[in-house]
Amino acid sequence: MSAQLNSFPQTLTIAGTDSGGGAGVMADLKTMQERHVFSTAVIVAVTAQNTLGVQDFSALSKKLIDEQFASLADDMAIKACKTGMLADAEHVEIVVDNLKKYDFGPLIVDPVMIAKGGAPLLADSAIDVVKRDLLPLATVVTPNLPEAERLTDMTIKTPADMQAAAKKLRATGAKNIMIKGGHGNTEKVTDYVLLEDGKEFWLSAPRVDTIRTHGTGDTLSSAMTAEIAKGQDIESAIRLAKDFVEAAIRNTIQVGHGHGPLNHWA
Ligand code: PLP
Repeated sequence: MSAQLNSFPQTLTIAGTDSGGGAGVMADLKTMQERHVFSTAVIVAVTAQNTLGVQDFSALSKKLIDEQFASLADDMAIKACKTGMLADAEHVEIVVDNLKKYDFGPLIVDPVMIAKGGAPLLADSAIDVVKRDLLPLATVVTPNLPEAERLTDMTIKTPADMQAAAKKLRATGAKNIMIKGGHGNTEKVTDYVLLEDGKEFWLSAPRVDTIRTHGTGDTLSSAMTAEIAKGQDIESAIRLAKDFVEAAIRNTIQVGHGHGPLNHWA
């Protein structure tokens, strides 16, 4: 009997691992599997981590990162890619150089900076490099409120502040902006989206009372990447990704003793 040949769009996550399985590359791969794409991964950093926090991490060598990119470019037909934890300025540059060298389709930048437990996943000195070199390559950038504040040097308190910050982020060259409101303290979580053509909209959902939100940003940006790889337009990809994350937060699972992971089967 010959094997039946199924084909799925191929995607790429460029990020750090989470030994605890809830965030980073692990969340990306689980999400993309659920969204029916075949995801590859370039590992930039390895973390020793669980639901209680990040105990340690180390970034990989430039040689090994370059080789991972080359391996994929030689063999795969990647339709969309995303970045997550990039560790420091040197590693942001390594990733930028490779993204300029190879065509992996639209790029979703999740500008990961600090884990929920407080561990820094990006050196402060890398933020200017992200703004100057990575954001101009971004099809979509998905900062949370603290990340948007760091990237714009603004204090963001009101919906008008979110709109102003998104405009400022657009000036970096990033095409579509989604500022996530989850780190606010309002009863509803409200995200703001500014699209390339100037269209803007708000996505609002009731806040779920849970500490199990580890990997939320990774899951959102991975779902978005998967939908774009499948051919969805940017607005639809954003809306589908938001729905996926919300369900994954609502249908919580019991793993570990701290900030537990989402339910990617939801
Ligand atoms: N660890 C890695 C490798 C990540 O990429 C991320 C987030 O992007 C985190 C941890 C942080 O996850 P959270 O802040 O959702 O707990």
